[in-house]
Amino acid sequence: MARFDPKTKALKTQLAHLGRNPDEHFGFVNPPVIRASTVLFENTAAMEGRASSRYSYGLTNTPLIEALTDAITALEDAAGTVLVPSGLAAVTLPILAAAEPGDQILIPDNVYWPTRRFADETLTRLGMRITYYDPLIGADIRSLFEGKVGIVFLEAPGSNTFEMPDIPALVDAAREAGAVTMLDNTWATPLIYKPVPNGIDYSIQAGTKYFGGHADVLIGSVAASARVWPRLKETHRNMGLQAGTEEIFLTLRGLRSMGLRLAEHEKNALEIAQWLKARSDVARVLHPALPDDPGHAIWKRDFGGRASGLFGFELAGSKEQAARLLDSLKIFGLGFSWGGFESLAALANLGPTRTATPWSAGPVIRLQIGLEEPKDLMDDLDQAFRAAFG
Ligand SMILES: *Cc1c(COP(=O)(O)O)cnc(C)c1O
Repeated sequence: MARFDPKTKALKTQLAHLGRNPDEHFGFVNPPVIRASTVLFENTAAMEGRASSRYSYGLTNTPLIEALTDAITALEDAAGTVLVPSGLAAVTLPILAAAEPGDQILIPDNVYWPTRRFADETLTRLGMRITYYDPLIGADIRSLFEGKVGIVFLEAPGSNTFEMPDIPALVDAAREAGAVTMLDNTWATPLIYKPVPNGIDYSIQAGTKYFGGHADVLIGSVAASARVWPRLKETHRNMGLQAGTEEIFLTLRGLRSMGLRLAEHEKNALEIAQWLKARSDVARVLHPALPDDPGHAIWKRDFGGRASGLFGFELAGSKEQAARLLDSLKIFGLGFSWGGFESLAALANLGPTRTATPWSAGPVIRLQIGLEEPKDLMDDLDQAFRAAFG
């Protein structure tokens, strides 16, 4: 028996207590890590009635799966949550759950690149019609609707260039057209924005990033509204998907410090974004928290003025200079993924990834700001700028 319902308390208290039930586990603070395929039944009748039992097979539920999915469902204010082995699987699963052959699927032009590849290579083969939209299109997305609109997919802000979409306007247009909506909410996490109570059907999270937070986990979650939860649960079961036991354990552990980490990532990233903005070798900083960013007002309205630690900047220089800058970094690592404790940098490849809004500006460098001392990171960037332009 839980001593209190964490969901009725403040977010910090929720993060410390959600998904835990010590009274069910001999008083231990954390749930047991049960590695399981088989669950034994008392008799044949129990075996035949397994559909109504809490645990019947390791693929569908264990105390550990339950702990993390219960915690995420509460944080997301959703009807239910499923876990998958990667953030990319958290993108593909709800699309496959919702789409039907012939459906139009609308995807923002700044979407996470592997989402675009999945749409172009797999969804088109299954007979779906893919339309890429300008992430800043807002209510005008209606002008792109053609035939049966199946899904309006959103990502906020979008990958690499961080344009902030008008989520309520897109959701209203989708609802009018009878489409379902899904939001890749990896940047904000449900600590900053909760998609489901804002009318979005599927909330996608690459737990690999801030939930895990230590660059040692691949996991994804999809939380659903009551309207689509049965379909999501059914498709997840039919596809045989589940996250690994160790990954679930590490994600549950990461969740406990996620609030603290996210606040620190936010503060450090904003300090560095403002420092970059003042440089003459930076053409533009791509971060919705900056007052002159085109999505600033919408970001403030919908994300309550809260940000995480990932943003980009356009270099006032050539691609060669951008590569020289990156190659000169000593503290920042060059690598994919983000959301961990350590800072990373990468050159965004925008050429082939944008069709509705081609990118003609200068090279874009993406920064993931970790938990290091911001002054050390700025010193590292400063010496790299000097190496690139020297
Ligand atoms: C990283 C990322 C994903 C995919 O997560 P993986 O666990 O690496 O598969 C999905 N969406 C966004 C926005 C991401 O940044």
